[in-house]
Amino acid sequence: MLIDTHAHIYMLENPAEAIEEAFVAGVGRMIVPTAAEDEFETVLELCHKYDELYALLGVHPEDCEKFSDKTASKMLELAHDPKVVGIGEIGLDYHYSKENKTAQKNCFINQLEIAKKLNLPVVIHDRDAHLDTFEILRESKVQNVLLHCFSGSVEFMKQCCNMGYKIALGGVVTFKNAKTAKEVAEAIDLGDLMLETDCPYLAPHPYRGEENSPKYIGFIAKEIANLKNIPYDSVVSKTTETAKKFFNID
Ligand SMILES: [Zn+2]
Repeated sequence: MLIDTHAHIYMLENPAEAIEEAFVAGVGRMIVPTAAEDEFETVLELCHKYDELYALLGVHPEDCEKFSDKTASKMLELAHDPKVVGIGEIGLDYHYSKENKTAQKNCFINQLEIAKKLNLPVVIHDRDAHLDTFEILRESKVQNVLLHCFSGSVEFMKQCCNMGYKIALGGVVTFKNAKTAKEVAEAIDLGDLMLETDCPYLAPHPYRGEENSPKYIGFIAKEIANLKNIPYDSVVSKTTETAKKFFNID
């Protein structure tokens, strides 16, 4: 059984069909992150329809200016839903905007505090903001951290794994020109790794540019197996074991 640790299923053209196709493709669990407050209820509703789906609550850095005390209370309240298995996706995105760094940092730090209060793991979005992301995480002392769609170097990966953080790789690792992602896949300890699609974005080769879907996650596992020169089944079983433990699910 494969686990897709980052699937924005509610953004897909046909979520019900994508979920059924994922089951057929051997995807047994899907973690559905939120990026904005107005997605919380939609995602929880979707996750309640399927035993195999779990939700994250979080406000993405792109939406940081909308984060308020009201958002925080809502997260604290909704997090009691047994379908909520973490806080995410949260973090920093200096690719999208460097103009509002302070607002991004405040939004990030506030949500790390919420995760600590609830004793929930965090799923991190870090784009072109490795140093600040790492510094804020380190200072937060949050233990269970997953860096989603990891885009750092091998050196940064090692720095993160030394802190006990986990790394998720997605479709990018299958792209021909993705030298760094391939190096990270080769170098990482298999026990520190999880798989994700980040659908509807970043569909793996040979579907690059199309709408991504959890059913494609096997292409990512296969590429990682090739790069590490280990059996496909080892990648599947170890990443699934790690994801189950991280999100505390069966
Ligand atoms: Zn995402």
